Amino acid sequence: MNPVRADHISPLDMFKIGVGPSSSHTVGPMVAALQFRKIIGELLEKKADKNHNYTVKVELYGSLSATGTGHQTDGAVCGGLYGYSPKETTPDEIWSATDKLRANPILPFEKLSAKVKVSFHPDQDLAWLSWTMDGRPLPHPNTMRFLLKEGENTVSEQIILSVGGGFVEPVDLITWERQPAGANTTIFDLPYPYNSAAEFVEQCNQSKLKPWQIVIANEAVRGLSEIDLRARLDEILKVFDSCIERGLKTEGILPGGLNVKRRAKALHEQMLAGTKISVYASPEGLKPSVYAIAVNEENAAGGRVVTAPTNGSSGLIPAVFRTLKELHNLSNETLQNGLIVASVIGALVKVHASISGAEVGCQGEVGTSCAMAAAGAVTMLGGSADQSEQAAEIGIEHHLGMTCDPIKGLVQVPCIERNAMGAVKALNAAELALACDGQHLISLDRALEVMKQTGLDMNQKYKETATGGLALG
Ligand code: SF4
Repeated sequence: MNPVRADHISPLDMFKIGVGPSSSHTVGPMVAALQFRKIIGELLEKKADKNHNYTVKVELYGSLSATGTGHQTDGAVCGGLYGYSPKETTPDEIWSATDKLRANPILPFEKLSAKVKVSFHPDQDLAWLSWTMDGRPLPHPNTMRFLLKEGENTVSEQIILSVGGGFVEPVDLITWERQPAGANTTIFDLPYPYNSAAEFVEQCNQSKLKPWQIVIANEAVRGLSEIDLRARLDEILKVFDSCIERGLKTEGILPGGLNVKRRAKALHEQMLAGTKISVYASPEGLKPSVYAIAVNEENAAGGRVVTAPTNGSSGLIPAVFRTLKELHNLSNETLQNGLIVASVIGALVKVHASISGAEVGCQGEVGTSCAMAAAGAVTMLGGSADQSEQAAEIGIEHHLGMTCDPIKGLVQVPCIERNAMGAVKALNAAELALACDGQHLISLDRALEVMKQTGLDMNQKYKETATGGLALG
């Protein structure tokens, strides 16, 4: 197994277009189900000798089981098994898969013989299980097992981990070793290698290249041209904007039974009219909060969002980028550069700590997003690589220890407001870093070590299980 390196994680890995409300509990399980569907589809294509009746069984463990209903993990699994993709399929269609399977529990496969049937019933074939699998502790808090059964016989089995941000990793069935998937398994000889924040800054300073140029050069070696990268980042920026727009127009109560009222539309109207007393000199000071709330309300409603780096933290970066675009009239290219540098920070956190609330609490989600946004903001406003690193460190440092305790397991309280708070902190972190020369006491690399250890020390009830803190009401 090749080690995952930060310089091998693309901006397009960090920013993935998908569906709310959770990257680890919705997008990850959906991707995993889609992968299992592909495996069994290829396996069963060869079977046409006689009638076969197979059943898919899905087991959800740990945090996926503890907060899965609130995070719509069951609906996501149904969507993936049905053949729907988090990016390509509309959210409405994805969420229709559960009812379709209840009405007719046969998975649609175009290429299978009519003699071969594969069934999956959402209420009979999906199990919510505990923190052990076959008597062993789980390899990860977000563990899933997919089984294809023919009668009592297991025909195919996969254990897949949802490790945050929509990333999934299969594990070896015997050793339970994690197997990083996709491009991360091939190690390239990059022109500007780095696997720590210090190395990234050093590469920028030595080469005299801008931070985003380092990533563009590396991505080119990995097969992604600058033109293609920028086009895909533009697509992501458009999804950010359309999500904000939908959030600013939509009213009502969010699903899930908490009766949380959407606020973004009313707040935005009050901001534009200047009718609310504001602590800011201008009501426009509310912009980052309003934009973040707009996106996170869309996320909570199961709408189209981008992992940034997760869905729970999907509002913070769009809010910061949109606010700065409007304040400073930033070009699309500048916004793309900001996204690239933000993605470097996300990749460093993913490799050296975690972006999963189930592993390290909300410091890994909103904390990481704040650091990414702060570094992106510094970049977009003309700051140096050193200043971006400092801004990211400030963003992480002031989220250390933040727990994940979503009420009812829904990605609503405290998540929605938390993105607004994080957006304001990110702008403040960028401001502080831009006012300094980049020299500071605690490095980002050190802050990530502390973040990881804090996550390890954190009681399980504060790591996306809805069994502690605010989740107790
Ligand atoms: S509290 Fe934070 S980590 Fe937990 S679900 Fe909400 S946004 Fe994600």
